[in-house]
Amino acid sequence: MTLVLEDLQIPGYERVVALTDPSVALKGIIAIHSTDLGPSLGGIRMYPYTSFDDALTDVLRLSKGMTLKSALSQCGTGGGKSVIIGDPAIHKTEALFHSFGRAVDKMMGQYICAEDVGITPQDVNIIHETTKYVVGLHKEKSSGNPAPYTAWGTFRGIQAGLKQVYGTDSVDGRTIAIQGLGSVGMTLAEILFWQGARLIVADVNPQRVQQAQAKFGAQVVPVSEIHTAACDVFAPCALGAVFDDRSIPELRCRIIAGCANNQLLEERHARSLKNRAILYAPDFVINAGGLLNVSVELDKEGYDPHISRQKVDGIYDQLLTIFDISGKSDVSTHEAALSLAEYRLKYHIGKRAEQIAFDHVGAEV
Ligand code: NAD
Repeated sequence: MTLVLEDLQIPGYERVVALTDPSVALKGIIAIHSTDLGPSLGGIRMYPYTSFDDALTDVLRLSKGMTLKSALSQCGTGGGKSVIIGDPAIHKTEALFHSFGRAVDKMMGQYICAEDVGITPQDVNIIHETTKYVVGLHKEKSSGNPAPYTAWGTFRGIQAGLKQVYGTDSVDGRTIAIQGLGSVGMTLAEILFWQGARLIVADVNPQRVQQAQAKFGAQVVPVSEIHTAACDVFAPCALGAVFDDRSIPELRCRIIAGCANNQLLEERHARSLKNRAILYAPDFVINAGGLLNVSVELDKEGYDPHISRQKVDGIYDQLLTIFDISGKSDVSTHEAALSLAEYRLKYHIGKRAEQIAFDHVGAEV
């Protein structure tokens, strides 16, 4: 076993550790941005970064984003993230994940990991063999797949947007355009269908669009045109950087409310949306359902889906508060969300009061 942890001094971050274990070809980074409100929690991303610096830039950005998301959702966790440098299709081995798990374990619970891009539930189960600091396992007493909760939170966010713009939060008869019918987008489509919405959809995967057409009577449009669809709500549920100088003038929606991460190419694009009188539900607020769901695992009482659903429902009020601040001042919804998160961090609002607990079966290591 040749695992080596090297602390990197990064201003503004509590702890950033470079991980290497040549015996299993592990190269990675764990970044803990803040534990002010609770232990840091965030996914493991496996990606073939072309350099260590690229990986470092990504993990720093992502862990800081988790601090803001956690602060806003008041789930009693802080911001952290980890990356493993490697191609998920080629470089995964049990030994690599065991070594990574040992590195997570050395953080003594200050970093709790979960799935992210390139990491499957099976991988997380292997990591769990060498550390208990894992959530979102597909096991009894663990929260499992976060996607349904992210979809429900996105639906509640769409309702909040409708309430703000039309005065009623019913989706019945509303037209909603969904970009991306993956784990979250397809579940969202199903919820919206049963609530009476008319759907317009696009996905690069033809089977996915056919499924939505057959099951929900959705209108299918090319992926290059979905953002231009005339609709009440546009729900980006695929990629980041959807909104830029080119796409914003082409939008024909009243509301943007979708689960995709990093929807704005640059922060200033939130202002451009406000200038066009398009209500934007900030991505890191509306897509917090998955985070809220896994955070319930850390409660003393153990995981309870009813508590998760109740917490995810809170995204509705959260967004109405942000819309209200933005509507009454000269700030975008994105800026309003950021300042609310910073306020909660400053005054430790939503700080976890109890010790974290791990209730999932076989958690002892
Ligand atoms: P996914 O990979 O299951 O689905 C993404 C879908 O988008 C796929 O069906 C893919 O074919 C489609 N797609 C890719 N490129 C596209 C394009 N150019 N146009 C239209 N469709 C395209 O991912 P997911 O878990 O459903 O997550 C969707 C988004 O939500 C991602 O940005 C993710 O980071 C974010 N998110 C997900 C969760 C979660 O719980 N899964 C939580 C928070 C945020």
